Amino acid sequence: MSEEKELEKLKKRIQQIKRKRSGYGEILDFYKRVKEAQDELKASLKIDPIQFNKEWKDLLAKQGFSLLQREDFPLDTEASVTLFQTLCQIGKDANPYMAERVNKIEEILDSKKIDLKELLKKGTKEQRFEQIADEFGLDKKVFLFLIQTSAKPSIEAGVEQLRSELDPETWLKGYCPICGSLPSLGLLKDEVGKRYLLCSYCGYQWRIDRLVCPFCNNKEQQSLHYLFAEGEEAYRIDLCEKCHQYMKTIDLRNAEELDPSLEDLATLHLDVLASQKGYKRPVPNPWTT
Ligand SMILES: [Zn+2]
Ligand SMILES: [Zn+2]
Repeated sequence: MSEEKELEKLKKRIQQIKRKRSGYGEILDFYKRVKEAQDELKASLKIDPIQFNKEWKDLLAKQGFSLLQREDFPLDTEASVTLFQTLCQIGKDANPYMAERVNKIEEILDSKKIDLKELLKKGTKEQRFEQIADEFGLDKKVFLFLIQTSAKPSIEAGVEQLRSELDPETWLKGYCPICGSLPSLGLLKDEVGKRYLLCSYCGYQWRIDRLVCPFCNNKEQQSLHYLFAEGEEAYRIDLCEKCHQYMKTIDLRNAEELDPSLEDLATLHLDVLASQKGYKRPVPNPWTT
């Protein structure tokens, strides 16, 4: 599907959701603007080829190691910096809470105490950015969101380079075969309801068994449950009584192709429900900063 069509579809879906769940208006508009900014950049992105040792590939997979580390994804740093600036503006427009935090970040960048381009060149290792946030008194979540969201188009382009190197059907583990990150969502697909996980960092999707907790590998059916809200059977929360963590799962069997991140964002009420029951989400929704 062309980028333009995809964006049109996204806008339509956002309108649909807004009509059904009016409380989500502001956050969905924010999401839409960020997606537009990311999309605008895609055509002109320049990404270096990803280097990895082909002979090691099968060996790594056999041992259960992912192909790369998060910081190994090549970034188009120029493009990421431009996107970072656009995201700052979108954040400032969104609401006073975000505006205050973004202003502080911009202040530090303007003072040249941090060189964003230099930083991004070294990859987007989370701990490093958390340290910087600590050092300069920046809001960690907002800072990390801006960094990761501005790197996302490069990371997705990197995943495209690697797609033919991997078989999404055979990995079957609770973490991403490409970058080793934990999944943010589960997806049910095909008529038989094959279960896939969506990487929280690079967006790759891979298959996993239906009845297993991706976080602790628990396979005991009596301690794996799910719940959903009435009238929203396609969105469910998979709970594990062993590790007390949960994963949101979207049933795409009867739906046309949807943007999983948007659907996740538009069902935050389910996260509230799971949290009230005492369950944790290992990778929180990044949009709820
Ligand atoms: Zn990944
Ligand atoms: Zn578990």
